[in-house]
Amino acid sequence: MDYEKARERMVHHQIRGRGVDDPRLLEAMQRVRRERFVDEQFRSLAYRDGPIPIGHGQTISQPYVVALMTIALEVKPGDRILEVGTGSGYQAAVLAEMEAKVFTIERHDDLANRARQVLEENGYGNLRVISGDGSKGLPEEAPFDGILVTAAGPTIPTPLLEQLSPGSHLVIPIEEKPGRQKLTRITRRTDGRYDRSDLGDVAFVPLIGEEGWEEGHESYWQ
Ligand code: SAH
Repeated sequence: MDYEKARERMVHHQIRGRGVDDPRLLEAMQRVRRERFVDEQFRSLAYRDGPIPIGHGQTISQPYVVALMTIALEVKPGDRILEVGTGSGYQAAVLAEMEAKVFTIERHDDLANRARQVLEENGYGNLRVISGDGSKGLPEEAPFDGILVTAAGPTIPTPLLEQLSPGSHLVIPIEEKPGRQKLTRITRRTDGRYDRSDLGDVAFVPLIGEEGWEEGHESYWQ
């Protein structure tokens, strides 16, 4: 299989074809070898227009959703970005290709270890993968110039709001009613207040942790 070609087609049809035209993002997505971030058995599906299982009941997000979230963050070179929910490491690699300094947290040690290894093998050695509950953020490295949460919680975690630098965004799916998630963007204004906007309906795995759902919510969700 010609992954390079599959990647070009994915960027052309799924991303640019849906109106995303930021050249930095398109180039970043053209560079990240998505097939490396999924299990051997799913490699041939790496560029399909949807999520793919990565183990532990979790998924690597649909490429278009990765694009939408990255655009919403407004990443600039050198920005310090926190991602909550490393999963496969793919989203973190896209952020790194956009020249962000990336911190990414994963609650499943096994996924964190796998992502750390794949990222290192693919030349993303400068980003930090941390094992733990990211719903509380990463206070010791705050503030961040953007925070991206790739799992859906019931409410907006207050610690994440506090860890945003002025002018930056938190992008997070919020499950307001069972089965109904809204991708939400919160902007910390320079006057200290927050603006909120709705970026549309999405379907993410649950955010499990102190500021998310209780353990066991996964079985409810599935
Ligand atoms: N961004 C990922 C998609 C990951 S799916 C990618 O590019 O592949 C969401 C991930 O969030 C899962 O791996 C899940 O284990 C993790 N997660 C859920 N709650 C979490 C929490 N409180 N802290 C850190 N990771 C969490």
